[in-house]
Amino acid sequence: MINLISDTVTRPTPGMLEAMMQAEVGDDVFGEDPSVRALEERIADIFGHEAAVFCPSGTMTNQIALRLHTEPLDEVLCERLSHVYQYETGGYAYNSGLAISLIDGEYGKLRAEQIEAAVKSDFDWLPRTRLVVLENTANKGGGSYYTLDEARAIRHVCDNKALRLHLDGARIFNALVETGESARDWGALFDTISVCLSKGLGAPVGSLLTGSSDLIKRARKFRKVMGGGMRQAGYLAAAGLYALEHQVDRLREDHRRARVLAEALGQQPYVADLRPVKTNILVFDLCEPLDAPTFAERLKERGVLAAPFGPRTMRFVTHLDFTDEMLDRVLAVLDDARLGVA
Ligand SMILES: *Cc1c(COP(=O)(O)O)cnc(C)c1O
Repeated sequence: MINLISDTVTRPTPGMLEAMMQAEVGDDVFGEDPSVRALEERIADIFGHEAAVFCPSGTMTNQIALRLHTEPLDEVLCERLSHVYQYETGGYAYNSGLAISLIDGEYGKLRAEQIEAAVKSDFDWLPRTRLVVLENTANKGGGSYYTLDEARAIRHVCDNKALRLHLDGARIFNALVETGESARDWGALFDTISVCLSKGLGAPVGSLLTGSSDLIKRARKFRKVMGGGMRQAGYLAAAGLYALEHQVDRLREDHRRARVLAEALGQQPYVADLRPVKTNILVFDLCEPLDAPTFAERLKERGVLAAPFGPRTMRFVTHLDFTDEMLDRVLAVLDDARLGVA
């Protein structure tokens, strides 16, 4: 089976497994795991932040960030398609007592003017707008990314309106290898950044939250109370360190294969709309009356796994375990005349 469901399906490479076997570990709940500490220092340094905390998932790092920046009765602004709204079980309300205000952007991206216009006035009967969350790359937006200038304009609004700014950077490295922009320039714009090791970077588990020392000190308490304190987590951190060293630049390969898939999909009569393909994610709509579950089933019969992403919407994600040879096989499947019949 060829698996295009997500970039989370990858297995550790031999080099990564070797690094994990060799990891120096300790009890990280006591702050005594040298590999975890090295990973936290490394990621903070990459973004020019003071500190970082290693967590089991990107949902946890995002949820901790929401909690750090707000108090109950506050409101968070984000794009309608964003992960914090769509895929975190309504945690903004459950964990932090927040209201949420959804903005319809373009391919999952917000513009500074939209954020400015959405900030609520200071009345007793309104929640206090307190936090903006950007997602880069935007997953449900089809892997689109912000430019640094777009993000700067948003930071400017946040400064004027006394808003905190969090980056859901689950796939920030996909954006950075594509634009060539510097991670430190990005770091300078955000109060906190969440980064996933378990997506395109190919580690089995783990996400980090970066920010100031004060914020991250407090984040450690929230991690603990959410059940995210891990013991010899250095085995996992070693995989993350290996990924940052060896598996960032190769994200370009995933993007190249995604563009080849995009070209093929663009020529198929059964594809109604393909979002612009910028990184490793392809999101497309099928022509009526073909529906996504039927299409996914037909792909599966032909050896390709992919995720329905809506009633008529599909997502493909390229990743470390998706090779050129697999790409050729998928291209042949997409050309199969019976794949797209209504
Ligand atoms: C995957 C992802 C996360 C975190 O998901 P976990 O599965 O909890 O690690 C957060 N944001 C985006 C945009 C994602 O794609």
